[in-house]
Amino acid sequence: MTDKHIIAIGSIVVIVITSFACCKQISPIQAKDEPYIPIAYAQAFDEEEPDTIPVLESGETPLPSCVTVDEPTKKFIGDYKATFYCNCQKCCGKWSGGNTASGTRPTEGRTIAVDKNKIKLGTKLYLEFESAEMSQYNGEYIAEDTGSAIKKNKIDVFVGSHREALNCGVKSVKIWEV
Ligand SMILES: [Zn+2]
Repeated sequence: MTDKHIIAIGSIVVIVITSFACCKQISPIQAKDEPYIPIAYAQAFDEEEPDTIPVLESGETPLPSCVTVDEPTKKFIGDYKATFYCNCQKCCGKWSGGNTASGTRPTEGRTIAVDKNKIKLGTKLYLEFESAEMSQYNGEYIAEDTGSAIKKNKIDVFVGSHREALNCGVKSVKIWEV
């Protein structure tokens, strides 16, 4: 062996020893399983259901960034008095059996008559009756008819029979435009 060989082998030995020493420095830390990452953070990634929404200390549930707060889509129009009508002669006189003022067939659960100076014909409305017994009538309707007595804050709700119209009487209702 020449001196060059000895130097070369010596260098390799030094490099190997240095590398080993470095590994020895790192490995005890890994072996001790030091938490480099906060446990809660690490567990969040271990969760099987990543969609679980964490609860803040304040008790509030934070909204995921992709969820936007619902904008109110309904615009409150006002408090109205509702009467009820059907397509009979007592209710509609000479218009009995005919179409609505906007040319549609009057339909139960959809047609209401309004003062078209207050609510434009064709407007989709949401009705919520004050009295709980009227809750079955809550829902979406379309302003598609008018009536001589239906002015200002009065509406007329189309129902299936004259008896039903009489039974309903006059009711307070809140109206939203949807
Ligand atoms: Zn009638």
